[in-house]
Amino acid sequence: MSDYILALDQGTTSSRAILFDAAGQIAASAGQELPQIYPQAGWVEHDPNAIWQSQHECIQAVLRKAAVAPEQIAAIGIANQRETSLAWQRSTSEPLCNAIVWQCRRTASRCQELEAQGLAEMVRQKTGLVLDAYFSGPKFEWILQNVPRARELAARNDLCLGTVDSWLIANLTGHAQHVTDPTNASRTMLYDIHAREWDEDMLALFGIPRAALPRVVPSSGFIENTDPAVFGAAVPIAGIAGDQQAALFGQTCWQPGHAKNTYGTGCFLLSHTGEHATPSRSGLLTTVAASSHRTAYALEGSVFVAGAAIQWLRDKMGVIATAAESEELARQVHDSGGVFVVPAFTGLGTPYWDPNARGSILGLTLGSTKAHIVRATLESIALQTRDVVQTMQQESGAALQELRADGGAVANALLMQTQADLLGIPVVVPSITETTALGAAYLAGLGVGFWPDTETVKTQWRVAHRYEPQISADERESRYATWQRAVERARDWAAN
Ligand code: ADP
Repeated sequence: MSDYILALDQGTTSSRAILFDAAGQIAASAGQELPQIYPQAGWVEHDPNAIWQSQHECIQAVLRKAAVAPEQIAAIGIANQRETSLAWQRSTSEPLCNAIVWQCRRTASRCQELEAQGLAEMVRQKTGLVLDAYFSGPKFEWILQNVPRARELAARNDLCLGTVDSWLIANLTGHAQHVTDPTNASRTMLYDIHAREWDEDMLALFGIPRAALPRVVPSSGFIENTDPAVFGAAVPIAGIAGDQQAALFGQTCWQPGHAKNTYGTGCFLLSHTGEHATPSRSGLLTTVAASSHRTAYALEGSVFVAGAAIQWLRDKMGVIATAAESEELARQVHDSGGVFVVPAFTGLGTPYWDPNARGSILGLTLGSTKAHIVRATLESIALQTRDVVQTMQQESGAALQELRADGGAVANALLMQTQADLLGIPVVVPSITETTALGAAYLAGLGVGFWPDTETVKTQWRVAHRYEPQISADERESRYATWQRAVERARDWAAN
């Protein structure tokens, strides 16, 4: 009897394993931190063996915790940090170098060079991406150019290049499969999101041998059984998606116009656009959405610093002792007293894409207190999200009806209320906020018939809180207009 779906959520800073029961509820979970490696300024790496080992230990821990036998698992779904790039030897599974993490800037100058050659438009049209160092193609190119063994193995057709999903599946299947799914492929800058296949021009641009890349399989459906040596049974792997697309699926955002925002370190807002890829002219990414049965696309916008600004208040400013205290302190004042915080600590993302913007606090008076600054910092998360939503609405021509929220900072009711106020639409927080893992579980469970259809899954999904807008349209627009003035002051600051 198969009673559970096992979801693996391999994130940037941690690996997690969560067991979901047939009602879509969490039966048990286990997590482990993943060490970050910073070999030089701007570079970020992970040890591929540490990624696999931490994920493997989480699987064993969650089964132990729930006293569940591997035979009781109907299927495994995988959600993973996106764009992080690995290389290993096909025949021995030995990693050739550390994984280059999505945040790593080592390929920034290469991307600038390609931009100067006028290639940005071609890249955008084929891949839906902006020419930025985040994505995997330039990282794979770097590996081929800087790791001699990778070139040697490529010449012998014994090289695997892949993202974290591919690496986990290789390890789970005893290296029987080298596969990925369209959501992960759409973040490599090597994948034609319209034709849904590796793109010869992009492969040629980065000098990537096609034979080294994984086979692209659907996000939902049987892929391969796990090697029984891994954790004691042959269990079908039947779901894969990049973490943000998994969260969109886990929020049951399956129709055009449905959108979710994840409030973590940064914010990632994805809006489903249906069966057609919507191009962007204002710096949103066009990306493949996870689907259990048909082609689907999404627009994506990113805010670089969201919860990280709260961490800054806690760790660098010392005005709060815990993230949760930000709400308590902010509630001591009725509003931010005219103070605006622009948390452009690492530049600004959508729609500004300004690497030279810097953090700023504006509107200070002798009456300003730390409560005002904390409140303004929380508001900045909601205001940056409004920037993204506004850009999306302009691009898609459709107004959002509501925003579904997840991530650590949804625990802050004041932030969620402020978000509803500043968007003028309801903000909905589901009862299961582990939506990334839930999305991977849904994809796997639907893929093997553990859940018969999407309707069944939809009826399991529950709302925990619904925040309705409580301020007038005038107040909303006036606060947003002031925010835009504040952003203008923060922009281009570091250029000199
Ligand atoms: P990530 O997956 O990016 O590591 P999480 O989803 O775990 O992030 O969320 C952690 C982030 O949420 C931290 O940046 C933290 O500052 C923020 N956070 C957590 N609780 C609160 C809260 N009550 N109010 C505001 N921010 C919070």
